[in-house]
Amino acid sequence: MNFTTHALVGAALGSHIGLPAAAVATGLTSHLILDLIPHHDAEDWRGVLLDVSVGAGALYILRSCLITASWWGALAATAPDLEVVARHVGLRRGRWGFPTHNGDHLHGRWPPPAGVLTQVTLAMASALAILLA
Ligand SMILES: [Zn+2]
Repeated sequence: MNFTTHALVGAALGSHIGLPAAAVATGLTSHLILDLIPHHDAEDWRGVLLDVSVGAGALYILRSCLITASWWGALAATAPDLEVVARHVGLRRGRWGFPTHNGDHLHGRWPPPAGVLTQVTLAMASALAILLA
């Protein structure tokens, strides 16, 4: 899934869990689960730039609602995709480290609009969960 979805889901989980260490564990786990849900990922650098901008903007807007565990949850939920960035800029080669990044399933290949709607729905539900925490 995209940065925005991972970040908002991780932040929502952290907001409800309240403990930073548990937020890190659930954030990482959420990355695995979200990557297994059929979705459509950004396909080029413009899409990634838009996604990261939307996600960062959403966290900025919600910042007064976020507790420390929310930030840890968001960080842990997004961190596995640093591997994807490292591969794209040539810093990582060989086998993928994170289980859902190895191409063994339809990661990011569910076509729009359904594949995009999946992410928008999860991101919006997570933002609502943060506001209600
Ligand atoms: Zn991923």
